[in-house]
Amino acid sequence: MRQVAVLGATGSIGGSTLDVIARHPDRFRAAILTAHRQVDALVALCITHQPALAVIGDAAMEGELARKLAAAGVKCAVAAGHDAITAAAASSICDTVVAAIVGAAGLDSTLAAARAGKRLLLANKESIVMAGPLLLAAVTEGGGDLIPVDSEHNAIFQCLPGGRPELARSGVRRLVLTASGGPFRGRTRAELAGVTPDQACKHPKWSMGRKISVDSATLMNKGLEVIEAHHLFGAGADIIDVLVHPQSLVHSLVEYVDGSVLAQLGNPDMRTAIAHALAWPERVQAGVPPLDLAQHATLQFEAPDLQTFRCLALAFQALRAGGDAPAILNAANEVAVEAFLAGALPFLSIADVVESVLAELPAEPVVDVRTLNERDRTARESARRILRNAC
Ligand code: NAD
Ligand code: MG
Repeated sequence: MRQVAVLGATGSIGGSTLDVIARHPDRFRAAILTAHRQVDALVALCITHQPALAVIGDAAMEGELARKLAAAGVKCAVAAGHDAITAAAASSICDTVVAAIVGAAGLDSTLAAARAGKRLLLANKESIVMAGPLLLAAVTEGGGDLIPVDSEHNAIFQCLPGGRPELARSGVRRLVLTASGGPFRGRTRAELAGVTPDQACKHPKWSMGRKISVDSATLMNKGLEVIEAHHLFGAGADIIDVLVHPQSLVHSLVEYVDGSVLAQLGNPDMRTAIAHALAWPERVQAGVPPLDLAQHATLQFEAPDLQTFRCLALAFQALRAGGDAPAILNAANEVAVEAFLAGALPFLSIADVVESVLAELPAEPVVDVRTLNERDRTARESARRILRNAC
C-alpha cells in the first residue's frame, strides 16, 4: 500500500492524481493533501479521501481549515504554512510524493521529498529547471526514485532501457520532445499582438492550470521541458529536439543509433503518466479510454517556429549558458506570465521580459539552495523593474 502525499491537491495534476488513487483503494492512499489558499476545495477533497494530514500553504488560514474540517466530521491532522508543506513531504506519513505545486513555490517540498528518499513523482517542472543538479543530488542522497510525470518525460522514461541509463552507452542518438504547438500554432507575430489570457488558456488538447497553459501558448513550456529533459536524462542540448505534433497522441520519442525510433502514444490525459509513475514498474488502470488510432488516422509533425515563439529559443539559450541561467529564465517567466494573466503585459512581451532579465543577469554556478533562491529573488525584482519601465 503506497501512502501518497499530493502536494497541490486542488490543482489540475492534483485532481488527476486523486482520480487514479481513488480507482485503486487496495494499492494507494491519499495520506497527505495540500493546497495554497483554496480551503473549501481542500476540505471537499479531505471529505472524499480522508487523509491523515491536510496542509494549507497560507498560514493565516489554518484556523479556518481546522474549523471546516471539524464541522465536516473529518478527523485528520491540520498544518499550515510553506514550511509545513515542506515538512509534510519529508514526513513518515508518506512514502510517495506527487510534486504538483505550480512554479518555484514547489522547490523546497520537492527537494525535501527527494532528500527523504520518497518515491518522487515530478510534475513541478519549475523545480528541476531551477535546481536540476541539486535535485538530482538530493535524490541520490535520499536513495528514492524520481519518476517524471510530465507527459513527454514520462514517455521518454518509458522508451529508455531501465528508465534513466547513460544515453551514449545505450545507443541513444536523440531525444525528441513533442509539442502540441498550443492554441496559437501557425499564427504570425502580428496575429499574436492582442491575444487575451482567456484565449491563451484555451488549449486545444490538454486541460491544465493557467500558468502552464500560458507557457504552452508561448512554447516556454516546451523550453522548460527541454531543460527538464537535460537534467532528468543527462542529455546535452544538442541531442534534444522539439517536434510540433498537434494531435498530442505521440508524447515523445527516443531515437537510437541503429535507426530505431521508440515512441509512447496515448490519449492526451495526464492520468496515464500519473498511473504509470504511481504503479511503476507495474501497470494499473488509469481511467483513460483506449487510444483509437483508426479514429485519429492522421498524425502530423512539423518544426517549431522559433521566430514567432521566441521563448523556446530563449530556453535553449539559457540551457547552453548553463549554471543558474535556467533559474533566471524561470523566475523572469513566472513574473511575466503573472503580469500577462493580470492583463498588465501583452502576450508577445513575455519573451522580451525574459530576454532582458537573462541579459541583465549573466549565469553563475549553482552552489546551493540559499544562493539559488537569492538569484530567483533578484531575477524577479529585475523582471518587475523592466515591467514597470515598459508600462
Ligand atoms: P494548477 O494551477 O492547476 O494547480 C497548482 C496547485 O499548486 C494548486 O493545488 C495550488 O493550490 C498549489 N499552489 C499554487 N501555488 C502554491 C504555493 N505558493 N504554495 C503551495 N501550493 C501552491 O497547476 P497544474 O496545471 O496542476 O500544474 C502543476 C505543476 O505540474 C506545474 O508545475 C505544471 O507545469 C506541471 N504540469 C502540469 C500538467 C497539466 O496537465 N496540468 C502537465 C505537466 C506538468
Ligand atoms: Mg509536458
